Amino acid sequence: MPRPGEKRAALRATPPAERSLRDGHPWLYGTSLLEGPESCVPGDFGVVFDRKRRFLGIGLLDPEGSIRLRVLHANTPTRIDAAWYLERLKTAFAKRATLAASGHTDGYRLVNGESDGFPGLVLDRYADTLVLKLYTAAWIPQLPDILPHLAGLQPHVRLVLRLNRSMRRIPEHLHGLADGQILSGQSLEGPVVFRENGLRFEAAPIDGQKTGFFLDQRDNRSKVETLARNRDVLNVFSYTGGFSVYAARGGARSVTSVDISREAMEGAERNFRLNRAEEAVDACPHHVIAKDAFDALADLAKCEMTYGMVILDPPMFAQSSAQVDQALRAYRRLTQMGLAVLAKGGILVQASCSNRVPAEDFFRGIEETAKELRRPMHDVVCTGHAIDHPDSFPEGSYLKCLFARVS
Ligand code: SAH
Repeated sequence: MPRPGEKRAALRATPPAERSLRDGHPWLYGTSLLEGPESCVPGDFGVVFDRKRRFLGIGLLDPEGSIRLRVLHANTPTRIDAAWYLERLKTAFAKRATLAASGHTDGYRLVNGESDGFPGLVLDRYADTLVLKLYTAAWIPQLPDILPHLAGLQPHVRLVLRLNRSMRRIPEHLHGLADGQILSGQSLEGPVVFRENGLRFEAAPIDGQKTGFFLDQRDNRSKVETLARNRDVLNVFSYTGGFSVYAARGGARSVTSVDISREAMEGAERNFRLNRAEEAVDACPHHVIAKDAFDALADLAKCEMTYGMVILDPPMFAQSSAQVDQALRAYRRLTQMGLAVLAKGGILVQASCSNRVPAEDFFRGIEETAKELRRPMHDVVCTGHAIDHPDSFPEGSYLKCLFARVS
């Protein structure tokens, strides 16, 4: 792997960007730069100075990205090296210590990007497998200072590398690394099995969505378990049935999983089988519908099907700020379609993972839609990020989920 260049590019930023750096924001956009960098490759260090040539921050340059600098450290000059990364890693791992010690859960996020001081880098554990996901090639030259720490701090049998789609478009900056590559340890064919609150799930670290599972919904899945007893549960956008298996263990009368991906549906069926030792899971009929969610909801409504719990956890609807209004309309339409198949007294669970969509607007959209349809909501609970998915800056806050009983 390459090492970071010796050169430190000096940068100057606009006054608003200077303020946001001082406040600890981890991104500096190319459009906020007044000076520099002249020529650089991804992963070179960039140092931002203010008008009086005082140090403002140091970070990793990404000459091709709209986020030009990912800030590692602000306000006081420091040396970024292996020892510095060791401290950062220890701090991040300490935040997960209670999860790791629980004994029931061995799948969780160890490093959550910006919010753990590693902007554009994620590290997840699935049992003995670690998955490192990079969102920028700027991290590649830093890996020799980071990876050697993992063996001692986080014992594992293999480390898998995942590269965000945008990175795969610039192979010349990948230094021969590839998405799904095993960086160290044993090879892997197919999925790995890990435990979450005592349930067993498959994750697909090599080629699954995100790093192989949606770890961020763990707490919401637990909450679903507590509410599912004696209900027919419809889990829409189910992926591999995370919410579905929890609902079954919680005593659901039946569970129906809907996802457009046939592989996800097969994964959901395998995840049910993996948990047969749980009496309630074994006893719960599980149906799968591999179909577009909007079509499936329309079909179910046409057949006058109703459920005692409807879970709606779609993919990101707004990729940019220009798409926020459209996303909010799509969330409202989903609420409408979900309520159409929700029995009186049923539980609505609706989530959004679009960081561009403000939580208040998302929650208000659901509440207003329910009101318009004369389906009053009770016992409304709104949740956010779990402890292994800290959100320390506005753009990092993406997950929101509403639970309500609807009459
Ligand atoms: N609830 C899941 C995560 C959902 S992620 C969990 O807890 O694990 C979003 C899912 O929506 C993905 O599995 C994706 O395949 C699916 N999806 C995307 N577009 C869809 C559509 N139009 N209809 C149905 N499913 C869709």
